[in-house]
Amino acid sequence: MKTMTCRQLGGACDHAFHADTFDDMAAQSQAHVRAMFAAKDAPHLAAMEAMSVLMQNPATMIAWMDEKKQLFDSLPTP
Ligand SMILES: [Zn+2]
Repeated sequence: MKTMTCRQLGGACDHAFHADTFDDMAAQSQAHVRAMFAAKDAPHLAAMEAMSVLMQNPATMIAWMDEKKQLFDSLPTP
């Protein structure tokens, strides 16, 4: 089980997610950001805005995902 924070995954807070795979980690963070978005949480709205700009360029998006995946892979497994 590895731990990453919302902020480490492009979000806006220190909420921690726990997962064995990067896909699971990403899914949890997306669900959290969606919930925060629905609650109109300003920092997360800004983070999603920045993310949507990023997603307009597929190459940038892939590079961003690779970077997050590498960060996940580099984390120690307790
Ligand atoms: Zn968050």
